[in-house]
Amino acid sequence: MIKCSLCRGELIEQVGTFVHEENGEVWVIRHVPMFVCQQCGEKEYSQETTHRILSFVEQPPRPVEILHVPAYELT
Ligand SMILES: [Zn+2]
Repeated sequence: MIKCSLCRGELIEQVGTFVHEENGEVWVIRHVPMFVCQQCGEKEYSQETTHRILSFVEQPPRPVEILHVPAYELT
């Protein structure tokens, strides 16, 4: 069993969405394999996945879809 680096809870492998914001642009990368802590919700990524996400940000491929995302501020 893989354990969470924060709370030692159990990490379960899931496929989820990774959201990254840079220079006012929001990137949504779907179908990302991740390990999610069942206790605190922390997400961890394998080295390979981290590498792939970084290369997306460096050299973005053509998006499959352009989303319209509402933005809010908690004031
Ligand atoms: Zn945890």
